Amino acid sequence: IRNIAVLTSGGDAPGMNACIRAVVRTGIYHGKNMFGVMQGYQGLINNHIIPMNARSVSNILHLGGTILKTARCLEFKEDEGMEKAFKNLKEKEIDGLIVIGGDGTFTGAQRFGKKYGVNVMGIPGTIDNDLYGSDFTLGYDTAVNTIIEAIDKIRDTADSHDRLFFIEVMGRDSGCIALRTAVASGAEAVLLPEKETSLKDLIIKLKEGVNTKKSSSIVIVSEGNKYGGAWDIAKSVKRKFNHYDTKVTILGHLQRGGSPSGFDRILGSRLGFAAVNEMLKGATMQMVGLRGNEIKLTSLDVALHMHSYKLEDDLLEMTKVLSI
Ligand code: ATP
Repeated sequence: IRNIAVLTSGGDAPGMNACIRAVVRTGIYHGKNMFGVMQGYQGLINNHIIPMNARSVSNILHLGGTILKTARCLEFKEDEGMEKAFKNLKEKEIDGLIVIGGDGTFTGAQRFGKKYGVNVMGIPGTIDNDLYGSDFTLGYDTAVNTIIEAIDKIRDTADSHDRLFFIEVMGRDSGCIALRTAVASGAEAVLLPEKETSLKDLIIKLKEGVNTKKSSSIVIVSEGNKYGGAWDIAKSVKRKFNHYDTKVTILGHLQRGGSPSGFDRILGSRLGFAAVNEMLKGATMQMVGLRGNEIKLTSLDVALHMHSYKLEDDLLEMTKVLSI
């Protein structure tokens, strides 16, 4: 392998820049020519591929987002799109491709690698922490910290006004972010995609809070839960339980931004460093991940077919006990 390109694809996540920096500098250290692809797979198709040197990635370690930009590119799912992408890589003699993203990104990389024999490596980058083969994905830790900071602020006003807040957090069909932020912020209840909590039980829990003289209550609503968004749930609950002044906050995209935490900077650096080193040792069609504080490879095939996040029942049980 002489020439390696890196791209970010799918949703952006804090720590992607730390990872790009590690990929570029590790490759250069080993004497390889490094390239950055702009806007994910769209840049491969549009031939927006730029040479990168050690200085191209100066001063980005602490930045959120991704300097390479990211995109969702439908054209890459079509044979024609892939063909164009391959032609552009071939022209530059790029024989290694490192993709940072989620399961959609890995699916694309796997199909592309299989079809054209390009060496591909995947790095898990998504705040949702929903990929098999890594205990943590890039951006998850920062997102959890951002959410906790926001909930702490909401708690101040909730407490001062005796309010009930429904706070909607991201995670798509994974409740990982919701459950862990519920633990860390002392939420009274959490609604998750993986576990049904009936609205009746939720109201019982909130009434207990009133009986035990809680001055405020916070319910974390995971975006993928079966009862709908925080507004719908707040409305349904208010019809039957109207003790508090009820408010809704949807944290939205602020959860995706911000300077990466120390953990995500270290994780991004480790995964980027490992992806290049492993590729140079001959690995391909693999995802690099962190398991029990060790860097481990998982084949993209396995990563894509295994169920990712298994809800921690003990944490859920704990949120109930610790919020009495
Ligand atoms: P996130 O978890 O943040 O959403 P993701 O990587 O899962 O990240 P997607 O939008 O699902 O995000 O996928 C990113 C890109 O990967 C798509 O826009 C598309 O270009 C490519 N991709 C997804 N599925 C396929 C596929 N079946 N074949 C080829 N390319 C694909």
